[in-house]
Amino acid sequence: MILKPDEISSVIKKQIAAYSSKLEIDEAGSVIQVGDGIARVFGLKNAMNGELLEFPNNVYGIALNLDEDSIGAVIMGSDASIKEKDPVKLTGRVAEVSVGDALLGRVVNALGQPIDNKGPILSEKTRKIERIAPGVITRREVNVPLQTGIKAIDAMVPIGRGQRQLIIGDRQTGKTTLCLDTILNQKGKDVLCIYVAIGQKGSTVARIAKTLEDKGAMAYTTIVAATASESAPLQYIAPYAGCAIGEEWMDAGRDVLIIYDDLSKHAVAYRALSLLLRRPPGREAYPGDVFYLHSKLLERAACMSPEYGGGSLTALPIIETQEGDISAYIPTNVISITDGQIYLETELFNNGIRPAINAGFSVSRVGGAAQVKAMKKLAGPIRIELAQYRELAAFSQFGSDLSQDTLDRLRHGERIVELLKQPQYHPLPVEQQVLILYVLTNKYLSDIPLEEIQEFDQRFLAFIHEAYSHILTEIREKKDISDALELEIKTAIDEFKEQYHAVKEDN
Ligand code: ATP
Ligand code: MG
Repeated sequence: MILKPDEISSVIKKQIAAYSSKLEIDEAGSVIQVGDGIARVFGLKNAMNGELLEFPNNVYGIALNLDEDSIGAVIMGSDASIKEKDPVKLTGRVAEVSVGDALLGRVVNALGQPIDNKGPILSEKTRKIERIAPGVITRREVNVPLQTGIKAIDAMVPIGRGQRQLIIGDRQTGKTTLCLDTILNQKGKDVLCIYVAIGQKGSTVARIAKTLEDKGAMAYTTIVAATASESAPLQYIAPYAGCAIGEEWMDAGRDVLIIYDDLSKHAVAYRALSLLLRRPPGREAYPGDVFYLHSKLLERAACMSPEYGGGSLTALPIIETQEGDISAYIPTNVISITDGQIYLETELFNNGIRPAINAGFSVSRVGGAAQVKAMKKLAGPIRIELAQYRELAAFSQFGSDLSQDTLDRLRHGERIVELLKQPQYHPLPVEQQVLILYVLTNKYLSDIPLEEIQEFDQRFLAFIHEAYSHILTEIREKKDISDALELEIKTAIDEFKEQYHAVKEDN
Protein backbone atom coordinates (compact mmCIF):
# COMPACT_ATOMS: atom_id res chain seq x y z
CA MET A 1 0.00 0.00 0.00
CA ILE A 2 1.34 3.42 -0.93
CA LEU A 3 0.56 6.31 1.38
CA LYS A 4 -0.22 9.70 -0.05
CA PRO A 5 1.73 12.70 1.29
CA ASP A 6 -1.31 14.14 3.08
CA GLU A 7 -1.90 10.77 4.76
CA ILE A 8 1.70 10.71 5.96
CA SER A 9 1.41 14.19 7.32
CA SER A 10 -1.82 13.34 9.11
CA VAL A 11 -0.15 10.31 10.73
CA ILE A 12 2.78 12.48 11.84
CA LYS A 13 0.42 15.12 13.18
CA LYS A 14 -1.49 12.49 15.14
CA GLN A 15 1.71 11.17 16.61
CA ILE A 16 2.87 14.62 17.59
CA ALA A 17 -0.47 15.28 19.28
CA ALA A 18 -0.23 12.01 21.19
CA TYR A 19 3.39 12.70 22.15
CA SER A 20 2.70 16.07 23.72
CA SER A 21 -0.35 14.76 25.59
CA LYS A 22 1.86 12.06 27.09
CA LEU A 23 4.17 14.73 28.50
CA GLU A 24 1.31 16.52 30.15
CA ILE A 25 0.70 13.66 32.52
CA ASP A 26 1.67 15.01 35.89
CA GLU A 27 4.18 12.49 37.06
CA ALA A 28 4.03 11.88 40.76
CA GLY A 29 6.25 9.64 42.79
CA SER A 30 6.26 8.78 46.44
CA VAL A 31 8.87 8.74 49.15
CA ILE A 32 9.90 5.26 50.19
CA GLN A 33 12.64 6.18 52.61
CA VAL A 34 13.97 9.41 54.08
CA GLY A 35 16.79 10.34 56.45
CA ASP A 36 20.09 12.23 56.71
CA GLY A 37 18.94 14.69 54.06
CA ILE A 38 18.47 11.95 51.47
CA ALA A 39 15.18 10.67 50.10
CA ARG A 40 14.56 7.56 48.02
CA VAL A 41 11.65 8.15 45.67
CA PHE A 42 9.60 5.55 43.79
CA GLY A 43 8.03 6.41 40.45
CA LEU A 44 9.25 9.49 38.56
CA LYS A 45 10.58 7.47 35.62
CA ASN A 46 11.13 10.66 33.61
CA ALA A 47 13.28 12.48 36.15
CA MET A 48 16.33 14.22 34.68
CA ASN A 49 19.70 14.08 36.37
CA GLY A 50 19.93 17.16 38.59
CA GLU A 51 16.23 17.97 38.27
CA LEU A 52 14.49 19.83 41.08
CA LEU A 53 11.87 17.72 42.85
CA GLU A 54 9.03 19.20 44.85
CA PHE A 55 8.17 17.62 48.19
CA PRO A 56 5.20 18.69 50.33
CA ASN A 57 5.49 21.91 52.42
CA ASN A 58 7.59 23.70 49.83
CA VAL A 59 10.65 21.56 50.36
CA TYR A 60 12.81 20.94 47.31
CA GLY A 61 15.29 18.25 46.46
CA ILE A 62 17.66 17.44 43.62
CA ALA A 63 17.55 14.11 41.78
CA LEU A 64 21.07 12.69 41.82
CA ASN A 65 20.89 8.90 41.57
CA LEU A 66 18.66 7.68 38.76
CA ASP A 67 18.31 3.96 39.47
CA GLU A 68 16.07 1.56 37.61
CA ASP A 69 13.20 1.38 40.08
CA SER A 70 13.75 4.41 42.28
CA ILE A 71 15.72 7.63 42.46
CA GLY A 72 17.95 9.03 45.17
CA ALA A 73 17.43 12.69 45.89
CA VAL A 74 19.16 15.13 48.21
CA ILE A 75 16.90 17.44 50.18
CA MET A 76 17.71 21.12 50.16
CA GLY A 77 17.23 22.21 53.72
CA SER A 78 15.56 20.23 56.47
CA ASP A 79 14.06 16.80 55.84
CA ALA A 80 12.15 16.86 59.13
CA SER A 81 8.76 17.47 57.51
CA ILE A 82 9.08 14.68 54.94
CA LYS A 83 7.47 11.32 55.66
CA GLU A 84 7.26 8.00 53.90
CA LYS A 85 4.58 7.84 51.16
CA ASP A 86 4.67 11.63 50.72
CA PRO A 87 4.00 12.62 47.11
CA VAL A 88 6.90 13.99 45.07
CA LYS A 89 6.50 16.01 41.88
CA LEU A 90 8.86 16.66 38.99
CA THR A 91 9.32 20.35 38.26
CA GLY A 92 11.04 20.10 34.88
CA ARG A 93 13.62 22.61 36.11
CA VAL A 94 17.13 22.33 37.46
CA ALA A 95 18.35 24.37 40.41
CA GLU A 96 18.57 28.10 39.76
CA VAL A 97 19.61 31.25 41.64
CA SER A 98 18.67 34.89 41.27
CA VAL A 99 21.40 36.89 39.57
CA GLY A 100 22.09 40.49 38.73
CA ASP A 101 23.09 43.73 40.40
CA ALA A 102 20.39 43.34 43.07
CA LEU A 103 22.73 40.82 44.70
CA LEU A 104 25.49 43.33 45.36
CA GLY A 105 25.87 44.09 49.03
CA ARG A 106 23.81 41.03 49.98
CA VAL A 107 24.39 37.83 51.90
CA VAL A 108 22.48 34.90 50.42
CA ASN A 109 22.27 31.16 51.01
CA ALA A 110 23.09 28.49 48.48
CA LEU A 111 19.62 28.86 46.94
CA GLY A 112 20.15 32.58 46.45
CA GLN A 113 17.68 33.52 49.19
CA PRO A 114 18.68 36.50 51.33
CA ILE A 115 19.80 35.76 54.89
CA ASP A 116 20.88 39.28 55.88
CA ASN A 117 17.52 40.75 56.97
CA LYS A 118 17.71 43.40 54.30
CA GLY A 119 14.46 42.38 52.61
CA PRO A 120 13.80 40.42 49.44
CA ILE A 121 16.14 40.49 46.48
CA LEU A 122 14.49 42.41 43.69
CA SER A 123 15.84 40.60 40.71
CA GLU A 124 13.74 39.17 37.91
CA LYS A 125 16.58 37.20 36.42
CA THR A 126 17.64 33.72 37.42
CA ARG A 127 20.29 31.38 36.12
CA LYS A 128 20.90 27.66 36.27
CA ILE A 129 23.60 26.93 38.81
CA GLU A 130 25.32 24.48 36.50
CA ARG A 131 26.62 25.43 33.12
CA ILE A 132 29.14 24.04 30.67
CA ALA A 133 32.31 26.14 30.84
CA PRO A 134 32.99 28.55 27.94
CA GLY A 135 34.89 26.90 25.10
CA VAL A 136 38.39 27.73 23.90
CA ILE A 137 37.20 29.75 20.92
CA THR A 138 35.31 32.19 23.11
CA ARG A 139 38.27 32.92 25.37
CA ARG A 140 41.32 35.11 25.07
CA GLU A 141 44.62 34.94 26.89
CA VAL A 142 44.94 36.35 30.38
CA ASN A 143 46.74 39.69 30.17
CA VAL A 144 45.14 42.12 32.60
CA PRO A 145 46.40 41.95 36.19
CA LEU A 146 44.15 41.30 39.12
CA GLN A 147 45.98 43.26 41.79
CA THR A 148 45.70 41.64 45.19
CA GLY A 149 47.38 44.55 46.95
CA ILE A 150 49.64 42.06 48.71
CA LYS A 151 53.28 42.77 47.94
CA ALA A 152 54.47 39.17 48.06
CA ILE A 153 51.76 38.02 45.64
CA ASP A 154 51.73 40.88 43.17
CA ALA A 155 55.52 40.72 42.97
CA MET A 156 56.23 36.99 42.98
CA VAL A 157 53.05 35.09 42.05
CA PRO A 158 51.03 37.63 40.05
CA ILE A 159 47.42 36.83 39.23
CA GLY A 160 45.68 37.81 35.99
CA ARG A 161 41.99 38.39 35.42
CA GLY A 162 40.39 35.11 34.39
CA GLN A 163 43.03 33.01 36.15
CA ARG A 164 42.39 30.23 38.69
CA GLN A 165 44.85 30.55 41.54
CA LEU A 166 44.71 28.14 44.44
CA ILE A 167 45.32 29.33 48.00
CA ILE A 168 46.52 26.33 49.96
CA GLY A 169 47.75 25.83 53.51
CA ASP A 170 47.03 24.36 56.93
CA ARG A 171 44.36 25.78 59.17
CA GLN A 172 44.94 29.24 60.60
CA THR A 173 47.61 30.31 58.17
CA GLY A 174 45.86 33.40 56.85
CA LYS A 175 44.12 31.91 53.79
CA THR A 176 40.84 33.73 54.28
CA THR A 177 42.57 36.98 55.20
CA LEU A 178 44.54 36.89 51.96
CA CYS A 179 41.34 36.64 49.96
CA LEU A 180 39.56 39.33 51.94
CA ASP A 181 42.51 41.67 51.36
CA THR A 182 42.17 40.97 47.66
CA ILE A 183 38.49 41.90 47.81
CA LEU A 184 39.31 45.10 49.71
CA ASN A 185 41.87 45.98 47.08
CA GLN A 186 39.25 45.88 44.29
CA LYS A 187 37.67 49.06 45.59
CA GLY A 188 37.33 51.52 42.74
CA LYS A 189 38.77 49.01 40.26
CA ASP A 190 35.50 47.95 38.68
CA VAL A 191 35.83 44.31 39.72
CA LEU A 192 32.76 42.72 41.31
CA CYS A 193 33.47 40.19 44.04
CA ILE A 194 31.76 37.06 45.31
CA TYR A 195 32.79 35.32 48.49
CA VAL A 196 31.43 31.77 48.79
CA ALA A 197 31.66 30.38 52.33
CA ILE A 198 31.36 26.59 52.47
CA GLY A 199 31.12 24.66 55.72
CA GLN A 200 32.43 27.48 57.91
CA LYS A 201 31.05 28.58 61.23
CA GLY A 202 28.18 31.05 61.02
CA SER A 203 30.03 33.41 63.34
CA THR A 204 33.06 33.43 61.01
CA VAL A 205 30.88 34.33 58.05
CA ALA A 206 29.19 37.07 60.08
CA ARG A 207 32.58 38.49 60.99
CA ILE A 208 33.71 38.45 57.38
CA ALA A 209 30.52 40.22 56.30
CA LYS A 210 31.08 42.85 58.96
CA THR A 211 34.71 43.42 57.96
CA LEU A 212 33.72 43.88 54.33
CA GLU A 213 30.86 46.17 55.33
CA ASP A 214 33.07 48.30 57.60
CA LYS A 215 35.71 48.71 54.93
CA GLY A 216 33.12 49.73 52.34
CA ALA A 217 33.64 46.61 50.24
CA MET A 218 30.10 45.23 50.37
CA ALA A 219 29.00 47.77 47.73
CA TYR A 220 30.63 45.58 45.08
CA THR A 221 30.49 42.21 46.83
CA THR A 222 28.03 39.33 47.28
CA ILE A 223 28.45 36.67 49.96
CA VAL A 224 27.04 33.19 49.32
CA ALA A 225 27.02 31.24 52.57
CA ALA A 226 26.40 27.56 53.29
CA THR A 227 27.64 27.30 56.85
CA ALA A 228 28.68 24.16 58.72
CA SER A 229 25.23 23.97 60.33
CA GLU A 230 23.54 23.71 56.94
CA SER A 231 22.93 20.42 55.19
CA ALA A 232 25.54 18.77 52.99
CA PRO A 233 23.47 19.31 49.79
CA LEU A 234 23.42 23.07 50.37
CA GLN A 235 27.17 23.10 50.96
CA TYR A 236 27.54 21.04 47.82
CA ILE A 237 25.66 23.45 45.55
CA ALA A 238 26.92 26.72 47.10
CA PRO A 239 29.98 27.18 44.86
CA TYR A 240 27.93 26.51 41.73
CA ALA A 241 25.37 29.08 42.83
CA GLY A 242 28.13 31.63 43.46
CA CYS A 243 29.67 30.84 40.09
CA ALA A 244 26.33 31.36 38.31
CA ILE A 245 26.00 34.78 39.96
CA GLY A 246 29.48 35.62 38.72
CA GLU A 247 28.82 34.35 35.20
CA GLU A 248 25.88 36.68 34.82
CA TRP A 249 28.23 39.63 35.34
CA MET A 250 31.00 38.10 33.26
CA ASP A 251 28.60 37.62 30.35
CA ALA A 252 27.66 41.27 30.67
CA GLY A 253 31.33 42.12 30.06
CA ARG A 254 32.28 42.83 33.67
CA ASP A 255 35.32 41.64 35.58
CA VAL A 256 34.48 39.35 38.47
CA LEU A 257 36.48 37.80 41.30
CA ILE A 258 35.12 34.73 43.08
CA ILE A 259 36.51 33.09 46.20
CA TYR A 260 35.60 29.54 47.20
CA ASP A 261 36.37 29.20 50.91
CA ASP A 262 36.99 26.31 50.97
CA LEU A 263 36.86 23.41 48.52
CA SER A 264 38.14 20.85 51.03
CA LYS A 265 34.94 21.27 53.00
CA HIS A 266 33.03 21.17 49.73
CA ALA A 267 34.60 17.81 48.93
CA VAL A 268 33.74 16.56 52.41
CA ALA A 269 30.10 17.61 51.96
CA TYR A 270 29.96 15.83 48.62
CA ARG A 271 31.55 12.73 50.13
CA ALA A 272 28.93 12.70 52.86
CA LEU A 273 26.02 12.88 50.48
CA SER A 274 27.56 10.39 48.05
CA LEU A 275 28.05 7.84 50.81
CA LEU A 276 24.46 8.38 51.92
CA LEU A 277 23.37 7.83 48.32
CA ARG A 278 25.39 4.62 48.46
CA ARG A 279 27.74 5.53 45.67
CA PRO A 280 30.91 3.48 45.78
CA PRO A 281 33.71 5.19 47.73
CA GLY A 282 37.12 5.60 46.14
CA ARG A 283 40.40 7.04 47.36
CA GLU A 284 40.16 8.49 50.90
CA ALA A 285 36.48 7.45 50.69
CA TYR A 286 35.72 10.28 48.26
CA PRO A 287 33.51 9.29 45.34
CA GLY A 288 35.38 8.89 42.06
CA ASP A 289 33.85 11.96 40.44
CA VAL A 290 35.07 14.47 43.02
CA PHE A 291 37.79 15.53 40.57
CA TYR A 292 35.19 16.20 37.91
CA LEU A 293 33.17 18.12 40.48
CA HIS A 294 35.97 20.61 41.07
CA SER A 295 37.24 20.76 37.51
CA LYS A 296 33.84 21.60 36.06
CA LEU A 297 33.55 24.37 38.64
CA LEU A 298 36.99 25.89 38.08
CA GLU A 299 36.81 25.57 34.28
CA ARG A 300 34.04 28.13 34.45
CA ALA A 301 36.60 30.79 35.40
CA ALA A 302 37.47 32.49 32.13
CA CYS A 303 38.71 35.53 30.32
CA MET A 304 36.31 36.09 27.41
CA SER A 305 37.38 37.46 24.05
CA PRO A 306 35.95 40.84 23.01
CA GLU A 307 33.40 39.26 20.60
CA TYR A 308 31.96 37.44 23.59
CA GLY A 309 31.71 40.46 25.82
CA GLY A 310 35.29 40.64 27.09
CA GLY A 311 34.33 39.90 30.69
CA SER A 312 36.34 37.78 33.07
CA LEU A 313 35.85 35.51 36.06
CA THR A 314 38.89 35.05 38.28
CA ALA A 315 38.66 32.20 40.78
CA LEU A 316 40.57 31.86 44.03
CA PRO A 317 39.70 28.45 45.48
CA ILE A 318 41.00 27.71 48.96
CA ILE A 319 42.16 24.27 50.12
CA GLU A 320 43.00 23.38 53.68
CA THR A 321 45.81 20.87 54.11
CA GLN A 322 46.53 18.62 57.09
CA GLU A 323 50.04 19.00 58.47
CA GLY A 324 51.20 20.69 55.29
CA ASP A 325 50.49 17.58 53.21
CA ILE A 326 49.90 18.89 49.71
CA SER A 327 50.09 15.39 48.25
CA ALA A 328 46.75 14.24 49.69
CA TYR A 329 43.93 13.45 47.26
CA ILE A 330 41.94 16.68 47.18
CA PRO A 331 44.97 19.05 47.28
CA THR A 332 46.68 17.30 44.33
CA ASN A 333 43.41 17.31 42.41
CA VAL A 334 42.87 21.02 42.80
CA ILE A 335 46.55 21.86 42.23
CA SER A 336 46.30 20.12 38.88
CA ILE A 337 43.13 21.97 37.90
CA THR A 338 44.32 25.48 38.73
CA ASP A 339 46.84 27.77 37.02
CA GLY A 340 49.08 27.98 40.06
CA GLN A 341 49.06 27.99 43.81
CA ILE A 342 49.95 30.18 46.74
CA TYR A 343 51.26 27.98 49.51
CA LEU A 344 50.94 29.27 53.06
CA GLU A 345 53.02 27.72 55.82
CA THR A 346 52.36 27.42 59.53
CA GLU A 347 56.03 27.74 60.42
CA LEU A 348 56.42 31.04 58.58
CA PHE A 349 53.15 32.26 60.05
CA ASN A 350 54.28 31.46 63.59
CA ASN A 351 57.62 33.14 62.99
CA GLY A 352 55.77 36.34 62.27
CA ILE A 353 56.30 36.21 58.52
CA ARG A 354 52.80 37.21 57.43
CA PRO A 355 51.40 36.68 54.89
CA ALA A 356 53.07 33.29 55.34
CA ILE A 357 53.77 32.68 51.67
CA ASN A 358 56.33 30.01 50.85
CA ALA A 359 57.93 31.52 47.75
CA GLY A 360 59.53 28.25 46.70
CA PHE A 361 56.30 26.24 46.46
CA SER A 362 54.13 29.08 45.15
CA VAL A 363 53.77 29.52 41.41
CA SER A 364 51.60 31.36 38.96
CA ARG A 365 51.59 29.86 35.50
CA VAL A 366 49.78 32.56 33.55
CA GLY A 367 49.77 35.71 35.67
CA GLY A 368 53.27 36.82 34.63
CA ALA A 369 51.90 37.91 31.26
CA ALA A 370 49.49 40.20 33.09
CA GLN A 371 51.98 41.79 35.45
CA VAL A 372 52.54 45.55 35.29
CA LYS A 373 55.76 46.23 33.35
CA ALA A 374 57.54 48.18 36.07
CA MET A 375 56.69 45.49 38.59
CA LYS A 376 57.91 42.72 36.33
CA LYS A 377 61.34 44.34 35.94
CA LEU A 378 61.79 44.94 39.65
CA ALA A 379 60.29 41.74 40.98
CA GLY A 380 62.08 39.39 38.59
CA PRO A 381 65.23 38.81 40.71
CA ILE A 382 63.44 38.77 44.07
CA ARG A 383 62.26 35.17 43.88
CA ILE A 384 65.74 33.87 43.16
CA GLU A 385 67.38 36.09 45.76
CA LEU A 386 64.88 34.89 48.31
CA ALA A 387 65.52 31.24 47.46
CA GLN A 388 69.28 31.80 47.66
CA TYR A 389 68.86 33.55 50.97
CA ARG A 390 66.95 30.62 52.46
CA GLU A 391 69.60 28.20 51.37
CA LEU A 392 72.43 30.37 52.66
CA ALA A 393 70.64 31.04 55.92
CA ALA A 394 70.22 27.34 56.61
CA PHE A 395 73.83 26.67 55.69
CA SER A 396 75.42 29.61 57.53
CA GLN A 397 73.79 28.70 60.84
CA PHE A 398 76.78 26.49 61.54
CA GLY A 399 79.64 28.62 60.24
CA SER A 400 80.97 31.87 61.65
CA ASP A 401 83.58 32.49 59.01
CA LEU A 402 81.53 33.87 56.11
CA SER A 403 82.72 35.72 53.05
CA GLN A 404 81.65 39.30 52.45
CA ASP A 405 79.60 38.22 49.45
CA THR A 406 77.67 35.71 51.57
CA LEU A 407 77.12 38.30 54.27
CA ASP A 408 75.78 40.76 51.70
CA ARG A 409 73.38 38.21 50.31
CA LEU A 410 72.14 37.31 53.75
CA ARG A 411 71.69 40.96 54.57
CA HIS A 412 69.73 41.56 51.39
CA GLY A 413 67.62 38.43 51.86
CA GLU A 414 66.63 39.42 55.37
CA ARG A 415 65.48 42.74 54.02
CA ILE A 416 63.38 41.13 51.31
CA VAL A 417 61.63 38.96 53.90
CA GLU A 418 61.06 41.94 56.15
CA LEU A 419 59.76 44.14 53.38
CA LEU A 420 57.30 41.55 52.11
CA LYS A 421 55.59 41.35 55.49
CA GLN A 422 52.24 43.06 55.44
CA PRO A 423 49.56 43.56 58.09
CA GLN A 424 46.07 42.27 57.33
CA TYR A 425 43.48 44.56 55.72
CA HIS A 426 46.16 46.87 54.33
CA PRO A 427 46.34 46.16 50.63
CA LEU A 428 48.79 48.43 48.85
CA PRO A 429 48.17 50.03 45.43
CA VAL A 430 50.51 48.73 42.76
CA GLU A 431 52.35 52.03 42.23
CA GLN A 432 53.34 52.09 45.90
CA GLN A 433 54.46 48.48 45.72
CA VAL A 434 56.61 49.34 42.71
CA LEU A 435 58.30 52.20 44.56
CA ILE A 436 59.03 50.07 47.59
CA LEU A 437 60.49 47.32 45.45
CA TYR A 438 62.59 49.91 43.69
CA VAL A 439 64.07 50.95 47.02
CA LEU A 440 64.69 47.31 47.88
CA THR A 441 66.25 46.06 44.67
CA ASN A 442 68.50 49.09 44.37
CA LYS A 443 69.91 48.28 47.80
CA TYR A 444 68.80 51.49 49.46
CA LEU A 445 67.86 49.49 52.53
CA SER A 446 71.24 47.94 53.24
CA ASP A 447 72.13 50.55 55.87
CA ILE A 448 68.72 50.47 57.55
CA PRO A 449 68.54 48.18 60.62
CA LEU A 450 66.25 45.21 60.11
CA GLU A 451 63.78 46.16 62.82
CA GLU A 452 63.32 49.60 61.25
CA ILE A 453 62.47 48.38 57.76
CA GLN A 454 58.69 48.45 58.21
CA GLU A 455 58.81 51.91 59.73
CA PHE A 456 61.16 53.19 57.06
CA ASP A 457 58.85 51.78 54.44
CA GLN A 458 55.77 53.51 55.82
CA ARG A 459 57.45 56.84 56.38
CA PHE A 460 58.94 56.73 52.91
CA LEU A 461 55.52 56.25 51.33
CA ALA A 462 54.07 59.06 53.43
CA PHE A 463 56.94 61.29 52.30
CA ILE A 464 56.36 60.45 48.63
CA HIS A 465 52.64 61.13 49.00
CA GLU A 466 53.37 64.52 50.40
CA ALA A 467 56.26 65.75 48.32
CA TYR A 468 56.37 63.64 45.17
CA SER A 469 52.86 62.36 44.54
CA HIS A 470 53.30 62.89 40.79
CA ILE A 471 55.76 59.98 40.81
CA LEU A 472 52.96 57.72 41.99
CA THR A 473 50.58 59.14 39.40
CA GLU A 474 53.06 58.54 36.61
CA ILE A 475 53.75 54.92 37.59
CA ARG A 476 50.03 54.30 37.90
CA GLU A 477 49.29 55.72 34.46
CA LYS A 478 52.34 54.64 32.44
CA LYS A 479 52.85 51.36 34.31
CA ASP A 480 56.55 51.74 33.68
CA ILE A 481 59.50 53.76 34.97
CA SER A 482 61.09 55.99 32.32
CA ASP A 483 64.72 57.12 32.63
CA ALA A 484 63.61 60.61 33.59
CA LEU A 485 61.30 59.27 36.26
CA GLU A 486 64.01 57.01 37.60
CA LEU A 487 66.24 60.05 38.18
CA GLU A 488 63.45 61.71 40.07
CA ILE A 489 62.84 58.62 42.17
CA LYS A 490 66.52 58.50 43.06
CA THR A 491 66.48 62.15 44.10
CA ALA A 492 63.39 61.56 46.20
CA ILE A 493 64.91 58.54 47.94
CA ASP A 494 68.16 60.36 48.66
CA GLU A 495 66.27 63.31 50.07
CA PHE A 496 64.15 61.08 52.25
CA LYS A 497 67.06 59.04 53.54
CA GLU A 498 68.93 62.18 54.55
CA GLN A 499 65.87 63.34 56.46
CA TYR A 500 65.37 59.90 57.97
CA HIS A 501 68.91 59.57 59.25
CA ALA A 502 68.85 63.11 60.64
CA VAL A 503 65.70 62.39 62.61
CA LYS A 504 67.13 59.09 63.88
CA GLU A 505 70.31 60.81 65.07
CA ASP A 506 68.31 63.44 66.93
CA ASN A 507 66.48 60.78 68.90
P1 ATP B 1 41.04 28.72 58.91
O1 ATP B 1 41.81 27.52 58.54
O2 ATP B 1 40.56 28.67 60.31
O3 ATP B 1 39.99 29.09 57.92
P2 ATP B 1 42.68 30.71 57.70
O4 ATP B 1 43.83 29.98 57.13
O5 ATP B 1 41.61 31.15 56.80
O6 ATP B 1 42.11 29.91 58.95
P3 ATP B 1 42.67 33.37 58.75
O7 ATP B 1 41.38 33.20 59.43
O8 ATP B 1 42.70 34.20 57.52
O9 ATP B 1 43.33 31.95 58.46
O10 ATP B 1 43.78 33.96 59.72
C1 ATP B 1 44.11 33.36 60.95
C2 ATP B 1 44.50 34.42 61.94
O11 ATP B 1 45.68 35.08 61.54
C3 ATP B 1 43.44 35.49 62.08
O12 ATP B 1 43.29 35.79 63.43
C4 ATP B 1 44.01 36.68 61.33
O13 ATP B 1 43.60 37.88 61.93
C5 ATP B 1 45.50 36.46 61.47
N1 ATP B 1 46.21 36.99 60.28
C6 ATP B 1 46.05 36.58 59.03
N2 ATP B 1 46.85 37.25 58.17
C7 ATP B 1 47.54 38.13 58.92
C8 ATP B 1 48.52 39.13 58.63
N3 ATP B 1 48.95 39.36 57.40
N4 ATP B 1 49.01 39.85 59.66
C9 ATP B 1 48.59 39.63 60.91
N5 ATP B 1 47.66 38.72 61.24
C10 ATP B 1 47.14 37.96 60.29
MG1 MG C 1 39.59 30.59 56.65
